[in-house]
Amino acid sequence: MRAHVITYGCQMNEYDTHTILSELVAGGHEIVTSPHDAELMVLNTCAVRGKPVEKVVTLLGELRKEKQRRPLAVALMGCLAQLEEGQALAKKFAVDILIGPGAITDILPAIEALETQGRYTSLAFKGDLLTHIPPAPATLTGFLTIMRGCNHRCTYCIVPTSRGPEVSRPVEAILNEAEAMRSAGVQEIYLLGQNVNSYGLGLPGYPSFAELLKLVAATGIPRVKFTTSHPMNFTSDIIDAIAETPNVCDFIHLPVQSGSDRVLRRMAREYRRERYLAIIAEIKAKLPEAVLSTDIMVGFPGETEEDFQATLSLYDEVQFDSAYMFIYSARPGTPSYQHFTDLPKAIKTERLQRLIERQKYWSQQRNQRWVGRELRVLLKQPSDDGGYNVGHSDQNHTVLVPNEQVTGVGLYPVVIEQATPHALYGSVVSAERQRLPLLMAS
Ligand code: SF4
Repeated sequence: MRAHVITYGCQMNEYDTHTILSELVAGGHEIVTSPHDAELMVLNTCAVRGKPVEKVVTLLGELRKEKQRRPLAVALMGCLAQLEEGQALAKKFAVDILIGPGAITDILPAIEALETQGRYTSLAFKGDLLTHIPPAPATLTGFLTIMRGCNHRCTYCIVPTSRGPEVSRPVEAILNEAEAMRSAGVQEIYLLGQNVNSYGLGLPGYPSFAELLKLVAATGIPRVKFTTSHPMNFTSDIIDAIAETPNVCDFIHLPVQSGSDRVLRRMAREYRRERYLAIIAEIKAKLPEAVLSTDIMVGFPGETEEDFQATLSLYDEVQFDSAYMFIYSARPGTPSYQHFTDLPKAIKTERLQRLIERQKYWSQQRNQRWVGRELRVLLKQPSDDGGYNVGHSDQNHTVLVPNEQVTGVGLYPVVIEQATPHALYGSVVSAERQRLPLLMAS
């Protein structure tokens, strides 16, 4: 079949899409870039916020019409497929294949089953996903899922329902996958999980996350990054591992969600402001150059102006380098949807605007400190206008350099000349003047 795959949501879904694509290719199917050429449309969905779900609903409606005009099969996969909401949509829009995030390797049997039995559904968690190693991606940055699911119960979050409880992949599978990526020329690996910090927790024979970081780094991959962390499980040994291991980047994404203890309690976030700030203080003491980013949710039900001020003051105290900021989105099936009343949209939007202003201010201040200094940058591709080459520093800044200075993709020493809240601009340093070692994967 000619298949076209669309991915919604997070990096874990991008990783899953890579597995789905490689399964399709291994099964002799052709991947097409245009949906108009496809005989099979695969939607790898996200259910965390309302917007991506709305997009999927709109597309399913269009695909149902398209199916009346020509032969076309539709596969609904990922988090939304696992939920009652997704199953109802599959019925309504005559979806042919319904596969949850724990069964993505079922895509080939599902296509075969279409010919014999029509519709196909697989919502079980298939243990084979834990040992399955997809082919290394042909990119400089590679994602590597180390665990699936989540044991936390944040009241706004649908993930524990859609992805189930935490399961860690065996360390051998992770290291073999990292090694395959290194051999294929991947320069940067992102270790992924809903809460990577609790990798192997309570499992005999499994390393801790801090130990796993060192093991992956020992494969010789030039850069190791990870996401996402949870303050409850972000222990001192993780900070020490980053400090001791040169190729584990000192870029830390630690979602705080709110600066108000009252809101954190209603979110069931299990830590309080004081604990979060203590972790940040330890990071700053042990990793003075660390770049910090976070997730903040604005307008959680019951959030008062005082609560919101607490979030702003926490932001000022930490001085985050960057932040992903969201308006609370009520998701059916979550406790906050069932038990709390949503705030008016105007209040949520206005608070988000104020938070974005604060973020821009601190991002400018934090980015400014790199001007005149040298950073190691993984340059990946020309900018849309072709004038720059764009990449990311070890610390995850977006960095742009004039395109004519770049002879090919890879790691370059770059001296920073200008900073904006969103990016750094600089020039490639000549080999004689370079100060930073370029650890290239061999
Ligand atoms: S830690 Fe909370 S927000 Fe993150 S996936 Fe688990 S339940 Fe959702």
